[in-house]
Order: sequence, then structure tokens, then C-alpha cells
Amino acid sequence: MKLKIALQRSGKLAEGSKELLRKCGIGFSNGGDKLRAEASDFPLEIFFLRDDDIPDYVADGVADIGIVGENILAEDPKEVETLEKLGFGRCRLSIAVPKTFDYGGVADFGDKRIATSYPGVLGKYLSQQGVAADIHEIGGSVEIAPSIGLADAVCDLVSSGSTLFSNGLREVETVMESEAVLIANPRLDPNRSALLERLLFRIRGVRAASQNKYILLNAPSDKIAEISAILPGMKSPTVVQLAEPGWVSIHSVISEHDFWEVVDSLKRAGAEGILVLSIDQMIR
Ligand code: ATP
Ligand code: MG
Repeated sequence: MKLKIALQRSGKLAEGSKELLRKCGIGFSNGGDKLRAEASDFPLEIFFLRDDDIPDYVADGVADIGIVGENILAEDPKEVETLEKLGFGRCRLSIAVPKTFDYGGVADFGDKRIATSYPGVLGKYLSQQGVAADIHEIGGSVEIAPSIGLADAVCDLVSSGSTLFSNGLREVETVMESEAVLIANPRLDPNRSALLERLLFRIRGVRAASQNKYILLNAPSDKIAEISAILPGMKSPTVVQLAEPGWVSIHSVISEHDFWEVVDSLKRAGAEGILVLSIDQMIR
């Protein structure tokens, strides 16, 4: 018996999804046009699909789990469970206007035409703001809608903003933020749930590793207590005597999140020769 996972076949989530599985130690052949692959070292079968179809396949049980952007789920909610944020495919759904649009606030969109592939999320956002705009649903190439006279503004996914910029558009409102998430069918049988737990354990290890760094530093022996308080690590830091009397090397794990603040406090506490390394796996 195998767990079945649905991934985007090609597009902005495809690479990140495959890389995540590989980092979990799961190998598979990725033959160009193939729609299905079997993993070599985990009981996993992989389906490569259009991202919009993934929630449906998972809700219907054709696939047990899948990787999809939160924006897709928000637009068209399906009966699936969201298990884990995956930290890639980050983007935001934003409203953008032509540079010539004299923008004062959301109220300016009253009676204006906004082109989008996300009419559900946009409609909800505008009605929460009490704005009645005319939403034009289009399937793609939303960013050209204003220049061809189809709309006054657009609402589209943005990451760097360069596509908007090169089409003469300016981002003015963020409607929602999104990243890739792992979704599951809510009624998995016990065998599949057990496989999913094994996979989730690995995914969490990969995620924790990418969010943490291994740090080594030298410090005077009388600073051990002060530095240990800044660097709690997984249990407590490792302290090793240096060849030079009165000095130690302290090793620990720190979160990428507050990395620079921690490094500043370490330096103030007398740390020298700070080395920071990335971590491949982290099992708590
Ligand atoms: P498919 O052919 O699978 O239907 P698509 O063209 O609908 O693909 P992509 O553009 O590949 O979709 O985007 C897939 C997902 O990647 C989006 O739904 C979103 O969650 C995420 N994403 C991340 N960054 C961006 C971005 N800059 N623009 C669009 N989507 C992004
Ligand atoms: Mg799509």
C-alpha cells in the first residue's frame, strides 16, 4: 500500500514541492511528461497535476495528500485538512492600478472594474471594506487588462512585483498572503495515516533545519553563564575547553528568525570568532 501525493506538474510550486520530497530522503524519477511516478525509498506514489485540480483530487480521495498554495484553497474551499505550512511559494494577492491612477484608498474602487482570477477572495475582501466594485474574472494574463481597456485595476498574485512594474502597474492593497501548504483528505484509513505521520515527521525535520542555524563561538570561561542564557539551544549549549587557558568554545542551535539580534547580544557578552553553519536535518 502506498500514500498518494499530488504535486503541481510545472509552475511556481513544482520545484519547491519536488525539492521538499528529496530533502525528506524520497527519490523519484521526474521524467518530463510523466503524470505519475513511484518513489524509490518511501511507499509513495506521486501524481503531477495542474495546481487548481489538486484540492479536488485530495477531497475526492484520488490523492491522499497534496501541495498547493493557500490562495487556491481560499478561492475555492474544498473538504481537505491543511496540515503544515511549507515555507515556499510565498506570494501575496494584491490590487494594482496603472501608474496614472490617482489612488486615495479602497473606496476609489467603487464602480471601477477590477480584473482577476480570484473573484471569490477579492469579492469577500471588497465587501468587508464596504466597496462595490465590478469584478471581471479572467483566467490569466491579468496584468495586461488595464492597458487593453478591459479593466481599471487588477488583482493578482505578486512576489517581487516585477511583472506589475513592467506592465506599468503599482501595487496598492494586499488582499491576502499565501504560501504552499500540505493538505490531506480528512478520512484517511489508519495505514495511510501512519504513512502520513512518517512523512510529516520528515517534513518537520526539514522545515526545522531550514529555520535554524548551528552556531560556534569562542568566549572567556567566565562568560559561559551569560552566553548560555542567550543561546539555550535544543537542550543547553555544548561547552568545550580551548587550548588557550581561560577560553571555551560554545556550540548551539539558533533560530534564523531572531538571528541578528542574538548575534548582537553574543558580541556584547564577549563572544569572538562566531561561525554559523546550516543544518541538513533536525530531529527534536
Ligand atoms: P497550473 O498550470 O498548475 O494551473 P498556474 O499557472 O495556475 O499553474 P503558477 O503561476 O505556477 O500557477 O502558480 C502556482 C502557485 O504558486 C500559485 O497559486 C501561488 O500559490 C504560488 N505563487 C508563488 N509566487 C507566485 C507569483 N509570483 N505569481 C503567481 N503565483 C505564485
Ligand atoms: Mg493553475
